[in-house]
Amino acid sequence: MITKPKGTKDIHGKDARKWQYIEEIVSNVLDKYNYTLIRTPLFEASDLFHRGVGETTDIVSKETYDFIDRGNRNMTLRPEGTAGVVRSFIENKMYGDNLPQKLFYIGPMYRYERPQKGRYREFYQFGMELLGSDDPIGDAEVISAAYNIYKMLGLEKLKVNINSLGDSESRKDYHKALVEYLKPHINELCDDCKERYQKNPLRVLDCKVDRDSDILKKAPTPLDYLNKESKERFEKVCEYLDMLKVPYEVNPRLVRGLDYYNHTVFEIDDTAKDMGSQNTIGAGGRYNGLVKLLDGPDTPCMGFAAGIDRVMVALDAEEIDLDVNDDVDLFLMYVNDEEKSYALYLCQELRLAGFRVDTDYLGRSLKAQFKQADRLKAKYTIVLNSKDLDNNEVKIKNNKTKEEEIISIDALIYYLDENLEDECDCGDDCHCGDDCHCHDHK
Ligand code: ATP
Ligand code: MG
Repeated sequence: MITKPKGTKDIHGKDARKWQYIEEIVSNVLDKYNYTLIRTPLFEASDLFHRGVGETTDIVSKETYDFIDRGNRNMTLRPEGTAGVVRSFIENKMYGDNLPQKLFYIGPMYRYERPQKGRYREFYQFGMELLGSDDPIGDAEVISAAYNIYKMLGLEKLKVNINSLGDSESRKDYHKALVEYLKPHINELCDDCKERYQKNPLRVLDCKVDRDSDILKKAPTPLDYLNKESKERFEKVCEYLDMLKVPYEVNPRLVRGLDYYNHTVFEIDDTAKDMGSQNTIGAGGRYNGLVKLLDGPDTPCMGFAAGIDRVMVALDAEEIDLDVNDDVDLFLMYVNDEEKSYALYLCQELRLAGFRVDTDYLGRSLKAQFKQADRLKAKYTIVLNSKDLDNNEVKIKNNKTKEEEIISIDALIYYLDENLEDECDCGDDCHCGDDCHCHDHK
């Protein structure tokens, strides 16, 4: 038997509906923020990530899936979404009068990692990118949008950590101070950090091994080296977040693993006990240098990416049962051939009218069809019979109350519309359609 590759998973059944639900919330919320969907290729030229994410990052140095295609080109499965979005922004000339660009994506990413709970080789992210604005309202908007999406999904135990790396001048000063501080301690750091110290010392702060060591706890932080403008800018972001009522904590030691960040960086953790060590459910920041680095016009940007797999773990850890509807509205049963073809026809009519309808495909006995209707949690059932059909009637049964009514087939859509509408007990007189804003369905 062929099995799935290590670090991947099949998403199916009720779980698949949960994923769809999350993706719908993400799309709906970001639509209200006026972000539009962008789909970029799952593989790109390896150079894009080498330059865009950075040679010295863990992602590029250890985690990419690289391959040479049949035309001898070096390709990489995308390990993250931002580099591809920025490549597309430049290639499609989305700048000039079109700024700002507000884009979001949802899709799989690939990293060759040691698989564990909340860490996979194929995992899903949603992310948003605000390209073309350097205003701190953009920073606050992206952080609050991320926070609001998690809240909409029902997550409560959220911790927003933010920090500022400052502009390039501040970063340079900090870099110098950090190198001086770490110099006498190099031998006490892990092997990876010894290398990071040489190639990109800032990344030492991000080390999962050394993070809690005394050396790093006492290390200078980027906040100590912010120049006046960077400091004022960071204060503005915090002020806006206060106004938006996003609870956050300034974490002076937070840096991000990617090369292209400056000014604001942030991470959102879920602090539920059962999260395990993979408790960061999303992260982002400002990356004013990236577009230029990839040969585009100098364009300030702010973005965020969330791990959907980890959101799923967080929902479990917080014991949140998403309000996914996997019930069938109506199950149609039949016995003879004439009824079968009518079932097929009626299924189509009702499905096109917006109802979730199912029927028998296995030539089951009526008794077994009733069982199947229960298994599918059918709200209504109809046993088609030739005599009723001749009279243009059906007998419809409410599977919960067991009440039966004979109604005209012409009135079936109206009947279902009226009766299924009452399902929602939000009290807001809602219709539970796609755009339902009632409390239960937010
Ligand atoms: P970590 O420190 O956990 O490795 P990261 O800094 O590498 O995370 P980012 O590149 O910032 O992660 O990606 C954004 C989000 O994507 C993370 O906060 C996390 O929720 C999710 N994520 C990253 N890598 C994985 C993975 N291998 N499996 C599942 N989710 C992941
Ligand atoms: Mg990682």
